[in-house]
Amino acid sequence: MSGPKITELPSLVDALPSDDRAAARRIFDVAATTGRLVPPEAMHPWIERSFGSVEAVLEQRIVRVTNRVTLQGTLFNGLRSSRPLDTGVSVDLEREIEATAGDPFCRPEEGTPADVFGRVRGEHSVTASNVAKYDGFHGVVVFDDHNPLHLTPGKVSDYVAVGLEWCRRALETDPEARYPFLMWNCLWRAGGSIIHGHAQVTATRGTHYPKIEHLRRGALSYGAEHGSGYFDDLYRVHEALGLAVPAESGVRAFASLSPIKEKELVVIGESPEDEHLRRTVGALLRDYVHSLGVHAFNVAFYMPPLSPTDEDWSEFPTVVHLVDRGSPANRTSDIGAMELYAASVVASDPFQVAEVLRDSL
Ligand SMILES: [Zn+2]
Repeated sequence: MSGPKITELPSLVDALPSDDRAAARRIFDVAATTGRLVPPEAMHPWIERSFGSVEAVLEQRIVRVTNRVTLQGTLFNGLRSSRPLDTGVSVDLEREIEATAGDPFCRPEEGTPADVFGRVRGEHSVTASNVAKYDGFHGVVVFDDHNPLHLTPGKVSDYVAVGLEWCRRALETDPEARYPFLMWNCLWRAGGSIIHGHAQVTATRGTHYPKIEHLRRGALSYGAEHGSGYFDDLYRVHEALGLAVPAESGVRAFASLSPIKEKELVVIGESPEDEHLRRTVGALLRDYVHSLGVHAFNVAFYMPPLSPTDEDWSEFPTVVHLVDRGSPANRTSDIGAMELYAASVVASDPFQVAEVLRDSL
């Protein structure tokens, strides 16, 4: 790869035009450090096999990026990020998925319960009520496709549209259940307990879920302090650095500078009602699978409430997060104590992720 690297971020930010640089510094704290080690002679062959050369590990450049608004922080190590990205769906995984066909989600009318307000049907999916609920309203968008990786922008748009209609039905049933959330845990690595393609929707009461409320408060304080919109500045900084990725009209998407885990993408749109937003998410997921070799992923839709509240949501767009959860063949979890309690450690370089997604257009 010849383009910019995440480990060069301090100098890339310094080189931005002054307004973009100011926005970058308002949002991000960026720092670099060097890790050093002294390997014994006996380890040299193993190090050469694993990392190419002994020199490569003697001095390791680490860049730490912290979003000052959300306090999401990420550590990137050049040694980890220099590895090539895996691509392509393996035959074994396709077989493993097909072997589970014939599950209850393959015949949702008999195999799954309905919600008290019935089912929502779309062109490519139908809803069910989740048996063991996270919240008072918790539904499943069951895809017609057993294999969740056979996705297209049109199918994903339908899954989200069906989920939204489910949220409106929940609101009609309980006017307090105004805070919607839509998520997709694709395959077991990403927390999906059932292989058959499905997303999940919840509707909660009182306030939005804490991570979404935290982002609303952070963005509001940022606007009050700097007189500039947080989400506009966030996109501006990523675009100026070359991290924007293809999106349909009126939608903004980028490879995150402070990803929660591997290859995180953020998509910002006006509303989940906007088909351009839904299709952009679908196109990025398709490219995730076919260009970036991602098989297990999480998707989360941060959406404002569906009816008026006391809090100020006027500046809050719909924010969608996509993240790679690693190879389904890997038994080691991709998160440990560092991610749960300190900061995210990420190997994939966002500049490389953005480049691959732009090329796959
Ligand atoms: Zn199935």
